[in-house]
Amino acid sequence: MAEATTECNIKVLCRFRPLNQSEIVRGDKYIPKFKGDDTVVIAGKSYVFDKVFPTNTTQEQVYNTCAKQIVKDVLGGYNGTIFAYGQTSSGKTHTMEGKLHDGQQMGIIPRIAQDIFNHIFAMDENLEFHIKVSYFEIYMDKIRDLLDVTKTNLAVHEDKNRVPYVKGCTERFVSSPDEVMDVIDEGKANRHVAVTNMNEHSSRSHSIFLINIKQEHVETEQKLSGKLYLVDLAGSEKVSKTGAEGSVLDEAKNINKSLSSLGNVISALAEGTKTHVPYRDSKMTRILQDSLGGNCRTTMFICCSPSSYNEAETKSTLMFGQRAK
Ligand code: ADP
Ligand code: MG
Repeated sequence: MAEATTECNIKVLCRFRPLNQSEIVRGDKYIPKFKGDDTVVIAGKSYVFDKVFPTNTTQEQVYNTCAKQIVKDVLGGYNGTIFAYGQTSSGKTHTMEGKLHDGQQMGIIPRIAQDIFNHIFAMDENLEFHIKVSYFEIYMDKIRDLLDVTKTNLAVHEDKNRVPYVKGCTERFVSSPDEVMDVIDEGKANRHVAVTNMNEHSSRSHSIFLINIKQEHVETEQKLSGKLYLVDLAGSEKVSKTGAEGSVLDEAKNINKSLSSLGNVISALAEGTKTHVPYRDSKMTRILQDSLGGNCRTTMFICCSPSSYNEAETKSTLMFGQRAK
């Protein structure tokens, strides 16, 4: 067992991407101003986070500053969750995945995969590791297995210790970083096949990659387990911008609801005094329950566009992040 802790460790980090080509062509202004390493100023208002990553921050810097420690903690028996929150095209997937097979441009998930195995190879050889991963998405409050396309509406159940989990979700044992990458590639390919417009779809669904690590000492039989949820959230943009109706509006309402229940859970945890944390308000917060509460490491990336065109959306994204502080 990991040592008990009542304190919940929530870190909120903010990352700004560069202006993209079409923003430059349109003549958008670059609006953020950075102060120190934890403050960004938009239109005269300061937003303070645990850390702010300006536009030129590399994938490696992001990983080293905030995800590296979580890997050690999960191997030490803690649970954790890393989220990326922000409007569509703000850099969520770039931060979580990046270019999966590019040593420099790869994001947090592939780096975690490498790091886990680097640690394991350096650890006591009397420790036996069992690592399994799952990959699923939540779309319109339905859980779809990305490793088995026949499973399109999985349910959340509780195990005998009352820990919620996705029942029947595929679990793959992995024994090297390459095997983890293969699973991600497979899940992404399935996701592409299932939808007509991947960009639209990924902006309306939450994708969740789960790494579960169990270890056992071969002589003492002492056991330790930890798990890490890696969550690329649906786009947080307000729907009015697209003038949506019908099914698009339903989707938007659904996303708003799940993101606001996530915000409520995180802010209740950050406050620390609340006896009631509303985990049960959405499927996502139910699933993440034991990786957001007591025995956990939580990191939220607040991803932002630097463009004047997105100023209103960026402000509301920053406000969401502030609630968790
Ligand atoms: P989201 O997942 O939030 O919709 P993406 O991660 O797909 O956004 O980012 C949109 C585009 O911007 C992609 O082409 C991505 O490569 C690029 N991008 C995002 N963040 C950065 C960054 N920090 N540096 C360089 N390019 C970035
Ligand atoms: Mg994305």
